[in-house]
Amino acid sequence: MADTTGTTGATGPSGTNGATEAITVDRDRCMGSGQCTFYAPNTFDLDDLSIAIVTDPHGDSDDDIAMAINVCPTRSIARTDKGEAK
Ligand code: SF4
Repeated sequence: MADTTGTTGATGPSGTNGATEAITVDRDRCMGSGQCTFYAPNTFDLDDLSIAIVTDPHGDSDDDIAMAINVCPTRSIARTDKGEAK
């Protein structure tokens, strides 16, 4: 069962430089509009409460994920790169 409070997210290895990328959804801000699931359907889904969850941080292209982040009306999605390899 999905976490119903706070922030949910997922991390995964980057395909290009070994960095670990994390995408998180602030569940307290998300209004369940579903915009992210439209633009990046293999990365985001809505749970039983119609709040967005990250199903696969690399489910869609970087451009599609960036679009999903940009269209979110509540700015609930964050993407960070951690531990970038040199
Ligand atoms: S676009 Fe933003 S507000 Fe809409 S479901 Fe996705 S995270 Fe929630």
